[in-house]
Amino acid sequence: MSRKNTPVIELNTTLATLRQIDFKSGQIFHGKGFLRFHDLPRIDAEIKSRYPEYDNLTQGVHWELSTWIDEISQHQQDYRIQLQLSTSYPLECQRCLQAFVDQLQFTSQFILLPTQEDVDLFPLDNDAEDALLMSHQFDLIELFEDELLLNLPLIPKHAEGLCELDHIFISDIRIDIEGVQISQDDQKERKTAFAALKKLKFDA
Ligand SMILES: [Zn+2]
Repeated sequence: MSRKNTPVIELNTTLATLRQIDFKSGQIFHGKGFLRFHDLPRIDAEIKSRYPEYDNLTQGVHWELSTWIDEISQHQQDYRIQLQLSTSYPLECQRCLQAFVDQLQFTSQFILLPTQEDVDLFPLDNDAEDALLMSHQFDLIELFEDELLLNLPLIPKHAEGLCELDHIFISDIRIDIEGVQISQDDQKERKTAFAALKKLKFDA
C-alpha cells in the first residue's frame, strides 16, 4: 500500500465551502482554521442550553484536515481523511457541579466509501478509523460537529487538584439506620461510607 502522489489543494475555509467539499473529484486537500461555536449550529445549541451567556461568537474550535489516497491495487484506491480538533469547551464538573472550561484535543481518521451499504457494513470495532459516505458535496461542518459531540467527556471533571472538592476535608461520615449520609458527593468518601455501612450490617 502506498500513498498516491497527487498535488495537494489548500482548502478555502469559508463556511459555504466547508459545507460542500467535492471528495469524489479524487483531489487531495489540506486545510486549517478556526470556527466559532456560533457557526456550528448543534454545538451552539448544546452550549447555549447549559450556558446561555457563553461567548459563542469569539470562542470556538481549531481544526486541521488532511486527505490522501492509499493505492491498494491497480483497481482499488482508498480515500482517507484525518481530522484534528482542539477547543476550550465549557462543561460542568460532575464532582463539584461547577462550570469549567476543559481543554480538548483529538485526532480522528476516516475512510470514504462509495455506497451507504459499504458504510453500514464497515466493522464497528475498527479502532483506527470510521467509515463515511463519499460525496461530491461533503459537509465538513457536520463532521466537525459530530466529532466534537462524540468526543466530549461522558463524565466531565476538573483536572486533579483543580476541583473545589479536592480542597475540602471531610472530617466525619455520619451513618444512620436509613443508609449513608455523606456531606459530599465524592467517590472516595462514598466507598469509605459504604464499607462502614457493610460492617455495621455485619455486626448486627
Ligand atoms: Zn470540580
